[in-house]
Amino acid sequence: MANETNIFAALIAHCKEYGYIFQSSEIYDGLAAVYDYGQNGAQLKKNIRDYWWKSMTQLNENIVGIDAAIFMHPTTWKASGHVDNFSDPMIDNKDSKKRYRVDHLIEGFADELKAAGQTEKADAVLAEMDALLAKDDFAGLKKLIDDNKMTCAISKTCNWTDVRQFNLMFKTEFGAVASDNPDDNIVYLRPETAQGIFVNFLNVQKTGRMKIPFGIAQTGKAFRNEIVARQFIFRMREFEQMEMQYFIRPGSQMEWYNYWKEERKKWHESLGIPAEKLRFHDHIKLAHYADAALDIEFEFPFGWKELEGIHSRTDHDLGSHQKYSKKKMQYFDNDIDPATGKPYGNYVPYVVETSVGLDRLFLTILSLAYAEEKWTKEDGTEDSRVVLRIPAKIAPIKLAVLPLVKKDGLPEIAREIMNECKNSFMCFYEEKDAIGKRYRRMDAIGTPFCVTIDHQTKEDNTVTIRYRDTMVQERIAIKDLKGLIQEKIN
Ligand code: ATP
Repeated sequence: MANETNIFAALIAHCKEYGYIFQSSEIYDGLAAVYDYGQNGAQLKKNIRDYWWKSMTQLNENIVGIDAAIFMHPTTWKASGHVDNFSDPMIDNKDSKKRYRVDHLIEGFADELKAAGQTEKADAVLAEMDALLAKDDFAGLKKLIDDNKMTCAISKTCNWTDVRQFNLMFKTEFGAVASDNPDDNIVYLRPETAQGIFVNFLNVQKTGRMKIPFGIAQTGKAFRNEIVARQFIFRMREFEQMEMQYFIRPGSQMEWYNYWKEERKKWHESLGIPAEKLRFHDHIKLAHYADAALDIEFEFPFGWKELEGIHSRTDHDLGSHQKYSKKKMQYFDNDIDPATGKPYGNYVPYVVETSVGLDRLFLTILSLAYAEEKWTKEDGTEDSRVVLRIPAKIAPIKLAVLPLVKKDGLPEIAREIMNECKNSFMCFYEEKDAIGKRYRRMDAIGTPFCVTIDHQTKEDNTVTIRYRDTMVQERIAIKDLKGLIQEKIN
């Protein structure tokens, strides 16, 4: 059994052992901050993505989904501001040559102060850091690091370079066009999915005859050359985002910002995330595109961290694409403005964005689900298990179908049940090993329901259904099984 401090390490090991997450290219010793999802992980990820997609595009009549390409015209990133602004202040330790994101170095120092009981000093350091970051005061940040004698984890020295900006976008070459200017062939791997939505704003608005307010949703890969890549799938260099841009009338942004802030928190709670594990964190330093921004934070095993961002992006993106592309990004609003008695007319819409990391949400779900349990049985002996209490509606496998023994016609009945159910939800068939061992394996994978076919089944067409969370077992008629599971997973 793992204790509090190494429970996160236990979860990472569990993810590997049960086919959830593998390190990328593991046989070549891996690639830092890149991960592969295994057979159960890919299914869980898909279920979370589908749940998001459905709640955005099916439950909101005015939100539609698109799937834009990862590669985009390079001017997109000039217009969005990413070429000039998508960078983090970094500092290098001259002895170890290790590069740190300045905010991570200072936050790490503050964590150490807190662990040593110096909470007030830690808070003061963090407040000073926020103020300096808000002003882009790099000399001040360097001084804060030097004055507090912050050290590098590797060299243990305080021998630092100046603070510098480092762009996080990956570049690659496009096509086989030979050019004297190497910049002509450069394309970027998108660092966010949002721009694919902005450049398609008019295509969707016109072809879908959308009326403001309306939203465009998208899920897909994004790439960032993160300097400090740590905490497992929390910060990756290749990850997946689920973003929705909500196009609104200028001036109504605070109303919609507050609406989506509450909606998104409620949505996370609908996935079984307890309200007390979620909080809002307002941004002090706003990104180059925002007039208001906050994070929905979750209490991860390593502390409170951003899970989702809600950003009021004004008309920055559409306005900027209009300027760079010289194509109008306007909407004609023929609703009557009560202030003037005339139609609102032409304008570039404002945007409120909700942006959640699929991988971070995956980690949230798993860190809540993972439990190591011990209890005393009726006969006085000890028992234990590791269980993933993943909500049934998103669990990768819903039902395990287990014939008690591999003979006496039981596998045949089990196969009939499989065939009856597998079209409706994900099922898993297994006949090897003792039944107790099979139950434990299904607990570890997070399968909410097991059904066991035994000799009595042959007599009365009943089976035993076992519930993962309570371990309660109950006898039910085969004919009621599928309906019961469907009811529980919807
Ligand atoms: P952070 O401050 O943690 O770097 P961010 O503020 O840069 O995140 P956004 O640009 O707001 O993140 O991106 C929206 C969401 O995308 C985040 O809330 C997060 O869930 C996810 N995300 C961003 N960067 C990564 C990453 N490197 N790995 C995994 N998910 C990420």
